[in-house]
Amino acid sequence: MNIALIAHDKKKADIVKLAHAYKPILSKHHLFATGTTGKRIAEETGLDVHRFKSGPLGGDQQIGAYISDNKMDLVIFIRDPLTAQAHEPDISALLRLCDVYEIPLATNQGSAEVLLRGLDAGFYSWREVSRGEDRDTLHF
Ligand code: PGA
Repeated sequence: MNIALIAHDKKKADIVKLAHAYKPILSKHHLFATGTTGKRIAEETGLDVHRFKSGPLGGDQQIGAYISDNKMDLVIFIRDPLTAQAHEPDISALLRLCDVYEIPLATNQGSAEVLLRGLDAGFYSWREVSRGEDRDTLHF
């Protein structure tokens, strides 16, 4: 599965902690992230992460483009609900596309844990089947 990981600045330590805790699960999948989030996760956990641009510079939109191309299976976006973000329109667009394409989306740590455990338990294996041969073109 292709998993997108994104966290706002005040939540970056949290997503690194989550990635550490779920490294055995995450390492079985292809990981993608916005620039700064991906850098921190890669450096601090050793996980292999494909990095898009930083969120405010278009990274959220790049992930959105992957979703609309049927190339992203699950999105973990740990948002900071208490700080205004300059790129709020990009964030809303990404969340909207998750809903358009029925992509599981976690916006906080609690739901992220449920999604990752569910993924590991095979609750989402229908997605691999529905993705079919598209998968071959996805990996870097
Ligand atoms: P970043 O982007 O990982 O490059 O900081 C995340 C965001 O704020 O959307």
